[in-house]
Amino acid sequence: MHEKPIVEKIVALIKAELDRHGRGSRLHGVTIRLGELSGIKPEPVRLYFDELTRGTSLQGATLEFEEVGPGVRCTDCQAEVEAEEGRPIDVKCPACGSTSIERLTGEEVEVVSIDLR
Ligand SMILES: [Zn+2]
Repeated sequence: MHEKPIVEKIVALIKAELDRHGRGSRLHGVTIRLGELSGIKPEPVRLYFDELTRGTSLQGATLEFEEVGPGVRCTDCQAEVEAEEGRPIDVKCPACGSTSIERLTGEEVEVVSIDLR
């Protein structure tokens, strides 16, 4: 399963954040954004997270997931467009017709927020 190294990174990131907040802070929840094209699914992430945090100060935190579909943004007018999965991103901006398009969402696996208290 390719989720494990990703979850290891997420756990390391949260630990670093926890260290920065100092002793006494406890992790309550984490929100993770998963792009549809990343191939990463919430359930394995949850399992690995439980496994990797068992017995640590991160144990028992609530994981929330934001799943996002593939999307692009026009760099000229900043319009955001949902793209069809599996299609190359060579669309024209529907708002202004520009072909200056950048990938915005779909491949990311990132921690959106960490709830420390
Ligand atoms: Zn545009």
